[in-house]
Amino acid sequence: MQREASLNGKAYSDRDERRIPDALGRGLLKEFPNPDRTGCPGSAVLKRIASHEMPLAEAEKWLDHVTSCSPCYRDFSELQAGHRHRRMQTILAIAASILIVVGVAGWALFFKQKGPPVVQTAVLDLRNRSVPRGGEVNPGEQPLEISRRVRHLNVYLPLGSAEGPYELRIAITTGSAIFTTNGVASLKDGVTSIEAAVDLSSASSGRYVLQIRKPDSEWNSYPLLLR
Ligand SMILES: [Zn+2]
Repeated sequence: MQREASLNGKAYSDRDERRIPDALGRGLLKEFPNPDRTGCPGSAVLKRIASHEMPLAEAEKWLDHVTSCSPCYRDFSELQAGHRHRRMQTILAIAASILIVVGVAGWALFFKQKGPPVVQTAVLDLRNRSVPRGGEVNPGEQPLEISRRVRHLNVYLPLGSAEGPYELRIAITTGSAIFTTNGVASLKDGVTSIEAAVDLSSASSGRYVLQIRKPDSEWNSYPLLLR
């Protein structure tokens, strides 16, 4: 309820903020002893004024008293100092958390700029691909995808493929190869696979064809998307 009143009430301007200590700063600490605390609003009210929880319009009526009562002035000064101290602590805590976020972001950026590890391996899984006939790509077949930064290929051949030497190339869809290599397929854990080093860094991204064949056989072609 108090908080709501504060939000709806007139805010304390910088001038209002200065006015209170200015009014209180004229050597009032001892000039108005008021030992019986006659007419004092009480510490709860002083606290609400010091922390700006009380709307200024409501606080106005107490200012004359606070400026003519040394005990209230002393209490108010202490409360106001405590409020400023807590507010500063909050600001410092927010600043510290911003620094942490900036630090973490900088750290992440630093490692991002260092880049990924040099050796990037891509697995091309052809095990469940239908074995295409000749050099043509089966229409409607989902393209394989690899990054141009890949430096190592691990190709899982279609199920039932024989072990032994294979030729592997990546060709432009119109025919000419941008990359050619030879590899020996071996059976391991029920998968016949070929491993090969590649360098596609100078190729442009786009659609290509991955072609694989045993020597002196027809190419088997699979659509390939180079990113
Ligand atoms: Zn008083």
